Amino acid sequence: MKRIVVLTGAGISAESGISTFRDSGGLWEKYDIMEVATPEAWERDPELVNQFYNQRRKQLYEVEPNQAHYALVELEKKYDVRIITQNIDDLHERAGSSKVMHLHGELKKVRSSVDDSLVYDLDGWELKIGEKCELGSQLRPHVVWFGEPVPMIPAAADLTNTADIYLIIGTSLNVYPAAGLVSYVRPGTPVYLIDPGEMNVSHIAGVKHIREKAGAGTRKLADKLLQKG
Ligand code: NAD
Repeated sequence: MKRIVVLTGAGISAESGISTFRDSGGLWEKYDIMEVATPEAWERDPELVNQFYNQRRKQLYEVEPNQAHYALVELEKKYDVRIITQNIDDLHERAGSSKVMHLHGELKKVRSSVDDSLVYDLDGWELKIGEKCELGSQLRPHVVWFGEPVPMIPAAADLTNTADIYLIIGTSLNVYPAAGLVSYVRPGTPVYLIDPGEMNVSHIAGVKHIREKAGAGTRKLADKLLQKG
């Protein structure tokens, strides 16, 4: 079975109603990201940071996967599909994808603020200041903040290196180290990028840029790959 490795970003969830970071109307216009998504912000104002992630989590319970998430599930009929997502939502899992690696953490999980290995499923959308881990420290969102290491990167790079076909969907390729993963694609591997944005992809050898929204673009590409596979 051929392996398809898929790198997804905020754009794949846009049609589900979750705003991206950089598009107009995106989260960055409403919040100063340095005030809500850094370890310094958490130190300075945990209430504000926690409120930001509580809002994101609450919204996540109100949205559904879209056509793009479901098309990736269908590809599993004929391919070994491995998803590497920068997203903290759980829409790939809810659509039914079986192998999903979260590079930047998961919104529905929380963890100890003194021991990263203590990760818990949060019951419901709201984390409260005062809720503690078993070591007695405040629980924090299980997300990778700007300035923090991305522990899954070596595993994601290894996986990228095993792709027979590589798909990139809905990411500006601006956030590192995730954006650097494309350099681990083996030479000669077919690479498809689905993103309606104008972006410079000259550094990605042989990439075919499909300038469509994730829903329609992924659906069409999946149909093509299923016919071939
Ligand atoms: P980004 O905001 O930097 O880029 C979003 C990309 O999506 C852009 O290239 C844009 O052209 C494209 N896009 C917009 N609408 C689209 C659509 N309908 N279909 C396909 N593409 C569309 O996002 P990023 O590259 O993922 O990086 C930002 C960081 O923000 C990531 O670390 C990610 O974890 C985080 N984030 C996650 C979520 C989520 O979990 N859903 C939402 C916002 C931000």
